[in-house]
Amino acid sequence: MRWENLTDSDHARTADATLFGADAVTVRTIDTPEFQGITFHEVRARSILNRVPGASRMPFEWTVNPYRGCTHACVYCFARKTHGYLDLDTGLGFDTQIVVKVNAPELLRRQLASSRWRGEHVAMGTNVDCYQRAEGRYRLMPGIITALTERANPFSVLTKGTLILRDLDLLTRAARVTDVGVSVSVGFTDTELWRTVEPGTPAPERRLEVVRALGERGLACGVLMAPVLPYLSDEPAQLRATVRAIAAAGATSVTPLVLHLRPGAREWFTAWLARHHPHLVRRYERLYADGAYAPTWYQRRITRQVHDLAREYGMGPAADRRPLSPPPPATPGPRPHPTQLSFL
Ligand code: SF4
Repeated sequence: MRWENLTDSDHARTADATLFGADAVTVRTIDTPEFQGITFHEVRARSILNRVPGASRMPFEWTVNPYRGCTHACVYCFARKTHGYLDLDTGLGFDTQIVVKVNAPELLRRQLASSRWRGEHVAMGTNVDCYQRAEGRYRLMPGIITALTERANPFSVLTKGTLILRDLDLLTRAARVTDVGVSVSVGFTDTELWRTVEPGTPAPERRLEVVRALGERGLACGVLMAPVLPYLSDEPAQLRATVRAIAAAGATSVTPLVLHLRPGAREWFTAWLARHHPHLVRRYERLYADGAYAPTWYQRRITRQVHDLAREYGMGPAADRRPLSPPPPATPGPRPHPTQLSFL
């Protein structure tokens, strides 16, 4: 925790110590002019390595999430629901009330040193983005990466944040001693769509520059093409433009994922749709009539189109590294829980 970062104009107050339950102790809540409209809830977590429930369906079993809530503010983010577990609002509250586990690096170092820890793969960025803007202030990831590197513990990072480039040297160093997977999420390249549906994220082109920069440093980077938004980013020409840009950035793989609309995200996304694309509301109601997932035929169609395009542009499926995406969308059976992947 960088207490010295506090300025006179920061406003600190003691928050309700019970706000975040038994998993963490709230240290303080602050608003700062550097992040207008954002409130940080600094907590000291009691545990930082989280076991993924139902991990058999996921490509990872352990996660580290130094933040909760995300200023990237993607309208469709299905980690929104998890803010409700903290008694925080899942709409604007998710975008602006950010829980920061200020002791994440020291806690991780301690937990990795435990005789019970078996050195398993640790996935980061699977719930909310660990390179969201708050990371510029709190700088938790360097300590986390260093702790993993010191133990040669394999890990992966999934992000929409360009801030990851700040830690390029650390990631390169880690990759010399252990297996490091990096994936960037770019669902589409339409900038008008990006501005309204992912308002707090770096532009798709800037995210692709991250892919390029990682590749130039010898860090293979795949792209999670998520979400593909029905009727908004799924035209053949749009898919082609996106896959072409991903290939041109040097991505090693592309994994498409169609929009999920789970409770929490569904209400927020539908309100956005009604404001920006009212003519699509009925079509979405029909497409998502059976629940959170688009029909299998639709998911299969998108997957096939993207894989065909990927082959055409010389990319393979995500197989060269531990994948960061959930199982293929057309696979029947139970789905990953929303706390495990938020469409980053
Ligand atoms: S989808 Fe990812 S980047 Fe977007 S708000 Fe959710 S956690 Fe943040």
